[in-house]
Amino acid sequence: MMQELLNSLISGVQGGGLQVIDLTQLLNEDTPILELPPQWGQTIKYKSHEISKYDDRGPFWYWNNFETGEHTGTHLDSPSHWASGADKGTVDEIPVSGLIGPAVVIDMVTECDVNPDALLEPRHLQDWETRNGQIPKGAWVLQGTGWASRFSDADAYKNTDAEGMSHVPGISKEAAEFLTQERDILGVGVETVGTDAGMAGTFDPPFPNHNIMHGSGNMGLTSLTNLDKLPESGAIVIALPLKIEGGSGSPVRVIAIVAG
Ligand code: MN
Repeated sequence: MMQELLNSLISGVQGGGLQVIDLTQLLNEDTPILELPPQWGQTIKYKSHEISKYDDRGPFWYWNNFETGEHTGTHLDSPSHWASGADKGTVDEIPVSGLIGPAVVIDMVTECDVNPDALLEPRHLQDWETRNGQIPKGAWVLQGTGWASRFSDADAYKNTDAEGMSHVPGISKEAAEFLTQERDILGVGVETVGTDAGMAGTFDPPFPNHNIMHGSGNMGLTSLTNLDKLPESGAIVIALPLKIEGGSGSPVRVIAIVAG
């Protein structure tokens, strides 16, 4: 029975009616990263250093070194990323079975076109549940904002105003509380550079989604793309970070498996 399930999965992805969709943005030297106020430590952009390319440094092989932060591009925030989740798990401690889950896609694209400061609120989750039933156990809750289309334009992605404030959608305190207290999810995923809004440093508490989600042992996925190719219910998402010992996060390849 279970073997038949695996056989069906393989025949499905080999042209038998399942689509595998890449939810990962391209990682390169232009990949936008979070910039913090100057008093804080800063992450670094992705940079590649060529070691050899079929040349006198190594005639038969091509390889590079690279440097970047744990939180560059499409990446996973482990619970330990936030002080509230300090003892709730680093990337190497997350069981791999806890990185696969059903996708709950919340479409806020039209709303975010009008209001770039829009937040995912409990009403969005309740509307989704009215149509699809209760958010399933172990779900990745993915916020579709349209922000992925801005990824290659750092200014549009950050959307900073004349006062230096970033206007980017996020997740409200109340939605984070609902998802962690009333439902049993793996975490949230967003198209933006972080799982809190651009203005979230001014919220109470600051960065409420990070505070609440990681404090409950849940994860975050950022800089996702192709969420518009997913049904609002029914896809499966797999997100695999590098097994960095003690890592607070990691660049991640995220895929979705979709029927039809
Ligand atoms: Mn992060």
